[in-house]
Amino acid sequence: MPKKILIVDDQFGIRVLLQEVLQREGYTIFQANNGPTALDIVQKENPDLILLDMKIPGMDGLEILRVIRKLEVETKVIMMTAYGELNLIREAMELGALAHFTKPFDIDELRQAVNAHLM
Ligand SMILES: [Mg+2]
Repeated sequence: MPKKILIVDDQFGIRVLLQEVLQREGYTIFQANNGPTALDIVQKENPDLILLDMKIPGMDGLEILRVIRKLEVETKVIMMTAYGELNLIREAMELGALAHFTKPFDIDELRQAVNAHLM
């Protein structure tokens, strides 16, 4: 069975780019543009990995990550952050995020990191 990846980002262009690149790697992709939708998909689909944007209107990435940890689902999380979000990144790592990529990131590096974590 192909592994499942959930992409959580409020920017349409980023979701489309990531979906395109990661689908080509053979993953099943889900998308969410906000926290409640993301949490719904987490519970229904139990994704193997989540690419989680830090800055999202409403629930931000950190809040989403906190709820995911409370749900106690076994999912890997990679954060997508903006420059200078060091405190938020530290907190995300404490909540078990495996890595973070600062936007604008190198899509190939991100693809490789995803593959490495899902091997
Ligand atoms: Mg954003």
